[in-house]
Amino acid sequence: MIWAYQHFFRRVRKGEKKKGFPTFKSRKTDPPRFRIPQRVTLDGSFVSVPKIGLVRVVVHRPLEGVAKSATFKQEACGHWYISLVTEQKIAPRTDRPVRTHIGVDVGLKSLAVFSTGETIDNPRWYRTQTRKLRRAQKALSRKVKGSNNRNKARLAVARLHQKVKNQRCDFLHKLSTKLVRYFDLISIENLNVRGLTRTKLATSVFDAGWGMFRSMLTYKADWANTHLITIGRFYPSTKLCGSCSMINPDLTLADREWTCACGVHHDRDLNAAVNIDREGKRLFEQRVAAGYAETENACGDSVSPIVTVGAGR
Ligand SMILES: [Zn+2]
Repeated sequence: MIWAYQHFFRRVRKGEKKKGFPTFKSRKTDPPRFRIPQRVTLDGSFVSVPKIGLVRVVVHRPLEGVAKSATFKQEACGHWYISLVTEQKIAPRTDRPVRTHIGVDVGLKSLAVFSTGETIDNPRWYRTQTRKLRRAQKALSRKVKGSNNRNKARLAVARLHQKVKNQRCDFLHKLSTKLVRYFDLISIENLNVRGLTRTKLATSVFDAGWGMFRSMLTYKADWANTHLITIGRFYPSTKLCGSCSMINPDLTLADREWTCACGVHHDRDLNAAVNIDREGKRLFEQRVAAGYAETENACGDSVSPIVTVGAGR
């Protein structure tokens, strides 16, 4: 609440919309959720909740350590989820020697292109469901407000959204886990995701989940002692020729392939990934030489200056 008031009274930055007077949470609009800070335990396929008793659950992975607190939350599709917080000892950081390294270029045409030459197709989770969503949303809008049938239609829409979300999460989790497992040094570009979501590409950008992918990579790299290097936003990964280091200023978004003045023919995304890998390695070696290789791992994203760039520049 304090935060809401500070938000309300603070000076509004240029070009920013002013937020309104703080309002209370609503039972109608906020997802139902509550937390029990103690005495919630997992017992087989049941969770024991104080004063309620045993609640049957689907356990999706075994509990490591002792449960400390539990958060109960209902998703829009009607399913309840319980998150249990546990306490455990984390193995101390070890310095992982760099034997394998990879550069990752994220985009919309392909979700990711690796400097190893591998391409991950963009599954476009949301886009593939738009027809079903449209039908479900139309059905919902026809129902009488407050009716039981409207509620059923609402759940149908929510289930579709949930499916899209689950598919995206599943895919990105598997991809990021694989990366931190197999590679000692991962280099990625610091894309201005927020800037891109203000363009026409917004839906596709949100659908691709770059931000989610990057945050997964960040914390998983930390767990696995993988070195993660974020390359500055203004590094010209796409325009740079991988073999002669010339910059091609005429490259547009539409050019999927191009030939450099030195005669080398490039695939746009692969060239970018190779450049990112090389730049990441260079930055990493520089940091090792300076003795602070680990400090950048949990780097935050600066918001300004806002530049509107095309996807996969
Ligand atoms: Zn060249």
